[in-house]
Amino acid sequence: MNYIVLDLEWNQSNTGREPEVKELPFEVIDVGAIRMDEDGRMIGEFNQLVKPQVYQNMHRITSRIIHLHMQDLLRGQPFPEVMKEFLEFCGEDYLLCTWGTMDIGEFQRNMKFFGMDTFSDGPLKFLDVQKLFSIAFEDGKSRRSLEYAIDFLKIEKDIPFHRAFSDAYYTGKVFALIPKETRVYYSFDTYVVPQSKEEEVFAEFPTYMKYISREFGDRHSAMEDKEVSSTRCYLCNKNLRKKIRWFSTNSGKHYYAAAECPVHGPMKFKARVRKAETGGVYIVKTSKFIPEEKLKELGERRAEMVKKKKEKRKGQS
Ligand SMILES: [Zn+2]
Repeated sequence: MNYIVLDLEWNQSNTGREPEVKELPFEVIDVGAIRMDEDGRMIGEFNQLVKPQVYQNMHRITSRIIHLHMQDLLRGQPFPEVMKEFLEFCGEDYLLCTWGTMDIGEFQRNMKFFGMDTFSDGPLKFLDVQKLFSIAFEDGKSRRSLEYAIDFLKIEKDIPFHRAFSDAYYTGKVFALIPKETRVYYSFDTYVVPQSKEEEVFAEFPTYMKYISREFGDRHSAMEDKEVSSTRCYLCNKNLRKKIRWFSTNSGKHYYAAAECPVHGPMKFKARVRKAETGGVYIVKTSKFIPEEKLKELGERRAEMVKKKKEKRKGQS
């Protein structure tokens, strides 16, 4: 399998000069990628400018950061042609790798805008090298800049930063230094959300499990769904009785619950409510084992939230 380390630069509307096109807030203008083999050797390069079709003025921030001007872009090719070449470059069997989580979603939005098929018709598996760097060398939660990772790993800065190709090149250099076993922590791009129960995603990782639901009308109907609200031990696949029932924080963006597996111990469930492209919501639920004392902490948090809600209701009446 090939690893395609990808980076994009995009342009956006200049307020006042060009109105924003709602279906395409970010127009891809520069596509850079490195093809790598299983052992992290660089075996191919892709570097293409895109001739813009939507925004004809360069946003001042874009040109300042990436040193690209409209004259340069006019030498590029239209997006569908660049994309066709890019897909050929990727080959049959490949996995996309990017620094952070933004690029693939925006890439797919551009594909859809220009009438092309997206990479997949459901959540797309990819490697977020920024996350892998954190898991391999830091706490797994922090998210560092690409420059930080370059310095941390003492990678030589032999070409200038902030063009799609150079950032893909440096991301590839970082990727090559991340132990192979870290690659099991893949991510999903959810530009395309599961549309049916059959398409929902269940992904097991060494220390947790991730579930991506199909699309629902709103968060309340989502949280009433049997699968979404279930608290299952992913090791023995048993549905567990809740010790702490679902409660929401962060104005309904996050929900938490807890249960205890008689064999494997206490578990915490976190459901994040995410907006789907098509207007509804979907749920990303993670399940993981936690120490007993964390169970108590979560219980206290729930009690506090319930109390707050009651006070709020009293205040309204
Ligand atoms: Zn169990």
